[in-house]
Amino acid sequence: LSYLDSLLDGGRLGPDGALSLWRSDGALVLRNRVSGGHEDPQGRTISPTYLAQVLNNHHGTFDAALPPGTPVRRHTFVHVADAPLIVSASIPVSEIYSRWSHRALAMVLVTSLAVSAIVALTVLFRRELLRRAEAEAQLNELARADGLTGIANRRRFDERLGQEWRRSYRSSGRMALLMIDVDHFKAFNDTHGHWSGDDLLIRIAATLSQTVHRPGDLIARYGGEEFAAILPDTDREGALRIAERILDAVRALRFEDSAGQVLPVTVSIGACALSPSPGQQVADIVRLADAALYEAKDRGRNCIIMAPDMPRVLRPVAEAS
Ligand code: GH3
Ligand code: MG
Ligand code: MG
Repeated sequence: LSYLDSLLDGGRLGPDGALSLWRSDGALVLRNRVSGGHEDPQGRTISPTYLAQVLNNHHGTFDAALPPGTPVRRHTFVHVADAPLIVSASIPVSEIYSRWSHRALAMVLVTSLAVSAIVALTVLFRRELLRRAEAEAQLNELARADGLTGIANRRRFDERLGQEWRRSYRSSGRMALLMIDVDHFKAFNDTHGHWSGDDLLIRIAATLSQTVHRPGDLIARYGGEEFAAILPDTDREGALRIAERILDAVRALRFEDSAGQVLPVTVSIGACALSPSPGQQVADIVRLADAALYEAKDRGRNCIIMAPDMPRVLRPVAEAS
């Protein structure tokens, strides 16, 4: 009995645990509960349902409500070596699962916390990535915008002109370029001051931007008081129409000096429309439009000159024959 008591003292069976000592014929000799002490065997025997299993195996486990009507308990038995005795330990099945469910609940909580932390970190990381991408896009945008007028700068102009040139070359389409230069701008600056000059450039840039509407069109500040318009898919007539629209829009600008007097503002435009052919470079269209612009200045300014179509590249003699 003291041996059984010492086993129970270990506390490993829990408050509802019990140890029983059976004779090898199945009669209960002694039952000792953790809470409740020794019980009277009252002539109890192992239920016939489990007797064969207990007698034929050295050790084993079964779930049973013994006596019937009591809570189902898990019984684990072992035959005592060299003695006609069987020791069995039992605890209510519900208790086994209550310990398990507590541990499972703790694990679920810890796992949920870990998963929530990972999800939160992922969301933060994604937000940070998006913020960076946005900042990069803004930086890119700024790097391609003119600081004074806000329209496309020379860098964007060069990129887009190259793209449109290659696109037109691939599709055998036409494209046009307008070089637009403010007339007598140096004199304007000298008379009215650089501040007024800057203001006028801002007004002209805004005016030019309103003259083109197609998604592929681009108005850029080429440098100083010179602007450019890239017009994809546009032939001579189309380019001329846009150039006239620009000329009229700038003439109609009502730019006033500090005394409120309206100052005349005009531009000269060199235009070129062509279909890129083999051997031609993108610089050729700029050169042609620029030459036309010089011609417009020579002819008295406030006008448009259209560059003639580029001469075809001569084929080598051997090939021609
Ligand atoms: P033209 O009719 O032949 O084009 O004469 P122009 O005086 O406009 O041409 P020129 O190239 O001789 O002078 C351009 C002037 O533009 C020089 C400079 O004073 C002025 N300019 C260039 N960039 C800026 C700018 O950002 N702000 C201001 N206020 N003036 C500028
Ligand atoms: Mg000028
Ligand atoms: Mg100039």
